Amino acid sequence: MTVSTDFARDLTAMREHLHQIPEVGLHLPQTQEFMFTQLEALGDIELSTGDSVTSITGVIRGGKATRDANGVADKIVLLRGDMDALPVAESTGLDFASTNGNMHACGHDLHTTMLFGAASQLRDRRDDLEGDVVLMFQPGEEGCDGARYMVDEGVLEAAGRTADAAFALHVMSANTPLGEFRSREGLLMASSNRLHVTVRGAGGHGSTPHLAKDPVVVAAEMVVSLQTLVTRQLNLFDSAVISVGVLRAGEAINVIPETAYFEATVRAFSDSTLEQLRVALPRLLRGIAAAHNVEVDVDFIEQYPPTITNPDQTQFAGQVISDLLDPKRYENLRDPFNGSEDFSRVLNRVPGSMVILGACPPGRDHATAAFNHSPYADFDSTVLSDGTSVYTELAVRRLASLKAPSPTPCESSVAPAAWKAKHVHYH
Ligand SMILES: [Zn+2]
Repeated sequence: MTVSTDFARDLTAMREHLHQIPEVGLHLPQTQEFMFTQLEALGDIELSTGDSVTSITGVIRGGKATRDANGVADKIVLLRGDMDALPVAESTGLDFASTNGNMHACGHDLHTTMLFGAASQLRDRRDDLEGDVVLMFQPGEEGCDGARYMVDEGVLEAAGRTADAAFALHVMSANTPLGEFRSREGLLMASSNRLHVTVRGAGGHGSTPHLAKDPVVVAAEMVVSLQTLVTRQLNLFDSAVISVGVLRAGEAINVIPETAYFEATVRAFSDSTLEQLRVALPRLLRGIAAAHNVEVDVDFIEQYPPTITNPDQTQFAGQVISDLLDPKRYENLRDPFNGSEDFSRVLNRVPGSMVILGACPPGRDHATAAFNHSPYADFDSTVLSDGTSVYTELAVRRLASLKAPSPTPCESSVAPAAWKAKHVHYH
């Protein structure tokens, strides 16, 4: 289903409005209120909002679904769009640039708009849908694990039982040519983890380090040794990235401080490498600390698991895009991305896929344009129409082609009414 010129104009206006009111983290009151009002105006979508986060869940009931005694459909597809922004001061100079100091530098304003576009199209086609569609409007993708909150609050079961398939789109301001789609069967993105290290020495006069225990030199050795760990202990073909982004110690030139502190992001591409790092990182850091007779506190915080798509669902998504648009516009990636995604929380529970959509503005070279998260990142609104169509067709065609699961005797399905009662309604 394509998008009319009028509707494309509405979607662009919605995206530009969202772009001007970016909110960060799990609590996006202005974005939630705006989107809830827009969705409510469509009508015929069962809407609820999160208890602990400003999410919106919508359920569109298909008129051609086969339902059990509780009204639960035998086919359910979930579509996800994230709504949060970043604490980045926008430098794009766009006439609809952010007005509040935050920025939609990862293009989530486009995801929210495209999912709304699909909601509108699917709502119009609800009588013909062969199952139910769950719409997952999510806050807190950027490091706050918003997907986990929504999964914990039951988004996967929003239509009465766990969804059968799940899809998400992600735009890119660079790297991928405008209007082209990419995905990968299996590993698509890395796991994301945080390393926090405090080196505890003994402060003293800068002129007499032998009377102190200098934590700065030890921290410096640790930062360098982390890179050696990556190249000497991990398999080149299943490696990791460790980047120290925070490094703090001392205040005065002639004072040896008591402590030094650093933080690193750790990206790994498999559970086995992650397991190796869980052991190797503390061993390395404690060993260096012991060698220099200082103390060290090591915290390794696992944030997002690797994003692993289901090969069948990814092939299906590629076919839908090829058929709907042009086979030349879909490509299977050779390599995964180093980035990470909390859609991995959904893909760990539901077979599905995530598809990248190139949104580099025309006239710019996608190889050199500012990438997602940059204050200069610019995403072209012309992708909204095709993104909307792809979301819609993924749902429609997946519902049409899903095989109804054979009932499991011990599995109870939660009736939609019971599920809704657990959720606070907005307004
Ligand atoms: Zn993002």
